[in-house]
Amino acid sequence: MPKFVVQKHKARSLHYDFRLEIGGVLKSWAIPKGPSLNPKDKRLAVEVEDHAISYMHFEGEIPEGQYGAGEVIIWDRGDYTFDNNKSVPVPVEEQYNNGVIEIELKGEKLKGKFRLIRTRWREKTQKWLLIKEYDKFISYKDILKEKPGSIVSIRRIK
Ligand code: MN
Repeated sequence: MPKFVVQKHKARSLHYDFRLEIGGVLKSWAIPKGPSLNPKDKRLAVEVEDHAISYMHFEGEIPEGQYGAGEVIIWDRGDYTFDNNKSVPVPVEEQYNNGVIEIELKGEKLKGKFRLIRTRWREKTQKWLLIKEYDKFISYKDILKEKPGSIVSIRRIK
């Protein structure tokens, strides 16, 4: 099953890097406000460069002088599916190309159905929205505040 990871990253500003294994790489989005389990939230997700699959295991300090210098923790990680119980599932690469990705996350913190929608086609910077779909995993609590730390260590970002 393909994987996803969310890395909490304190570079110049704090953000959450949401990455999905698609087509042999980690397609990546920077989410300034972080993901939400509240289906009323539409979180801006700015597409950034692809990362290697192995990067899903990275947690630690990006040194000064390097791009993205600062602390990174693995805030959530797990499998995801994209078939959405459809009889003929649309491959996730095709969903990505079409600009609408419907997935079900099986993380420790993020669970259930989510949708990523590309909003602006013509700009150089691809802006998407990450939205929780209604299902039994929705929550109106702030998951970012409730569960701020790493899922693989005791690290936290101050
Ligand atoms: Mn980042």
